[in-house]
Amino acid sequence: MNIFSQDFVKRKFSEFYNSPHHPIPPLEAINEREFAFFLFKERIMVRHKSVPNIKMLRQFVCDVEPSDVYYSCAYYDNPEADMSKKGWRGADLVFDIDADHLPTSCEKIHDEWVCGKCKFNGKGPTPESCPACGGQKFDTKSWPCERCINSARNETVKLADMLEKDFGFSESDIHVFFSGHRGYHVHVETEAIRPLDSIARKEIVDYVTGLGLSLSGNAVSSRKASSRIFNLHEFGRYERLKSEMRKFVEGATKDDLARAGIKGTASTVILHYKQQVLERCIDKDLWDSVRGIGYETWFKIASYLTNLEVAKIDTVVTTDIHRLIRMNGTLHGKSGLLKVEFPLKHLVDFDPFTEAVAFKDGTAKIFVSNAPQFRLGETMFGPYTQQGIELPTAAAILLICKGRAEVVQD
Ligand SMILES: [Zn+2]
Ligand SMILES: [Zn+2]
Repeated sequence: MNIFSQDFVKRKFSEFYNSPHHPIPPLEAINEREFAFFLFKERIMVRHKSVPNIKMLRQFVCDVEPSDVYYSCAYYDNPEADMSKKGWRGADLVFDIDADHLPTSCEKIHDEWVCGKCKFNGKGPTPESCPACGGQKFDTKSWPCERCINSARNETVKLADMLEKDFGFSESDIHVFFSGHRGYHVHVETEAIRPLDSIARKEIVDYVTGLGLSLSGNAVSSRKASSRIFNLHEFGRYERLKSEMRKFVEGATKDDLARAGIKGTASTVILHYKQQVLERCIDKDLWDSVRGIGYETWFKIASYLTNLEVAKIDTVVTTDIHRLIRMNGTLHGKSGLLKVEFPLKHLVDFDPFTEAVAFKDGTAKIFVSNAPQFRLGETMFGPYTQQGIELPTAAAILLICKGRAEVVQD
């Protein structure tokens, strides 16, 4: 982003925060939180700030004109003190589900990397080291792509379901947000979880990511051990797995079974005697009671489903009890989109490309180096290669923030 583009984006962000409808919503125990601001020009994070109330936070944001606003998931006695003297009182439980951690087929189309040393560049996932010079520093360009965000959303659905059904958090404790870039945030805000330390939070992480689920492959060959594995306990993760296995078999086609590694006789038997298989093997836990399907078959299905079903979260975020997270109702410096909260029940039909759009008026002239096709609201834009164009402000800011365009001076 050149200096003119930076000034333009900074001015637009500032206008947005100064608008009369105060976009930043209130926050629970705001005076006990640490705030942090990332600055446009200096490219530094100003940390250890605190505010007595939401009004002061809004004022502070207008004065500082930051590109990004963060607050601590933690509650402190002295939010402005040094880390060791803050007096930690507890923290919300937060989850970050970002498309960056999910392999998608479209990243080949919209992601780019440039070697910091020799400028060698390519598309798709960033390599470990530069194929040309072996350098390990890259300038990467991702994209808030609809398909990528949808795959993050699917992970969020799994996570929210576990939080509600397995952990018993109520809908009012679970807050769901679009992150403003490539994913979703889930915050659990309730007294009960506040005192949990990192280790306790790691256990929650292990549960939702399916780590330590005892389906150890080494026991498959031993009949006795196998029968123990598949005596799935009727609670929590195992109950969830068993019901997933039932659902899978119930709806399975030959292709579905093949994807789980089930072919030949086992596949034919399952497809022909579905009802008997469901009743005997799964409902009665008699896993090897139908000829042609053995423990190995069930082990394959269980492993396949475990992989599908785990929620892919950024585990570091959840276990960090001092974590800074983006403030609700603020703009993301890499997109110009908003972090926005929406009701859990709208997780599937929430449209970030409408609801998270902040800049609704005006246009801007930009020069686009290159950009994939994208949608904002009902309008499709691009793809663009090396061209000057006048676009609605939101689209122009997205392209500038993503490093795909620069503003054109009149
Ligand atoms: Zn290189
Ligand atoms: Zn994508």
